[in-house]
Amino acid sequence: MEKRILHIDVNNAFLSWTAVDRLKHGDKLDLRTIPAIIGGDESQRKGIVVAKSNIAKQFGIKTGEPIYQARKKCPSIINVPANHSLYKKYSDNLYKLFCEYTDKIERFSIDECFLDLTEFIKPGEDVLKIAIEIKERVKKELGFTVNIGISDDKILAKMASDFEKPDKIHTLFKNEIEYKMWNLPISELFMVGKKSLNKLDKLGIKTIGDLAKKDERFIIKHFGKYGFMIWSYANGNSNEEVNYKESRPKGIGNSVTLPYDMASIEQLTPVLVRLSEQVSYRLRKENMIASVVNVQLKNNKFEVYSHQKKLPHRTDSSKEITKAAKELLEELYKGDKIRLIGIRVDGLSGKDEIQLSLFDEKEESKDKKIDKTVDYLKEKFGYGMIKKASEIKREDKQIKP
Ligand SMILES: [Mg+2]
Repeated sequence: MEKRILHIDVNNAFLSWTAVDRLKHGDKLDLRTIPAIIGGDESQRKGIVVAKSNIAKQFGIKTGEPIYQARKKCPSIINVPANHSLYKKYSDNLYKLFCEYTDKIERFSIDECFLDLTEFIKPGEDVLKIAIEIKERVKKELGFTVNIGISDDKILAKMASDFEKPDKIHTLFKNEIEYKMWNLPISELFMVGKKSLNKLDKLGIKTIGDLAKKDERFIIKHFGKYGFMIWSYANGNSNEEVNYKESRPKGIGNSVTLPYDMASIEQLTPVLVRLSEQVSYRLRKENMIASVVNVQLKNNKFEVYSHQKKLPHRTDSSKEITKAAKELLEELYKGDKIRLIGIRVDGLSGKDEIQLSLFDEKEESKDKKIDKTVDYLKEKFGYGMIKKASEIKREDKQIKP
């Protein structure tokens, strides 16, 4: 059966939701109609613009720029601090409304969902009609606007919702891609980032159509698996399913039975570092962040003991999770012979739900870049390839008599 998938994306989510909530609580001013932004703490000169009204946009204000810079562009701008519980509430209300149309819903981020309607469309019913109904109901019942993309392919639906905004519905069926998508710059294609952009450009691939028309083997030769993926997207054949199972893991863990009993922190540390990195990597793949790290040891008498600690702030950073794990090992280890070591992260939440508190640290964004590169290399070459200098040294020491 041909799939019928919607991708629904809230227009200016954080700002719209804040505006709606203020109106509801008696505020006369609609933030959407004035220069307004959602940002962090302005007093510390650290906060950045997380969302902006269209009027703010007209002042040249960009998402991601420091608030003090935005204020230079528009001194009278209203800056509203972020409020995650409010966003969660509005996101949940939206989800509840979608549940009236299908049970196959994937929450792609706090303000984006995929809906698989394939089995839920009655004979003779038009998917466009359903989309119109959803869009109008959201506006009327919840007070904000959405963009909806409709397609027979999941990624095409996502591409379609990104066409002209706000408050619009677009179709992008497989048989429409030539004239609706192929003329777009390649940077617009889902999953094409800055890094690949350079390389694509050098190969003369400027539009999505350029990529689609390239020989599959040529793209795989230059970009590997990732290349095949974006090439499939460009051709409207993602074959991806709406991942509707609410399968958020409660915690993510990894442990290893050691090849021989280890009896020193020096021996255990490199193993723990490797485990921490694998766990952080999985966390990033799930688009989650953790607030608790737990380290577990089992000795040669099969006694198990563990310690856990709360992280200073929720994170998916390899560096921070590894640091906490190492501290836990130091606290935990009492000099016995260890046969198993494990790490687990808990207190997980979706990354999008707390985006904001992460923006503070410059250091963090540097670490993020490193993590991203390492993840990419891991995917390309496998786990064994990536070792940190400190790990190699320690392992070398171990081998030496
Ligand atoms: Mg959005």
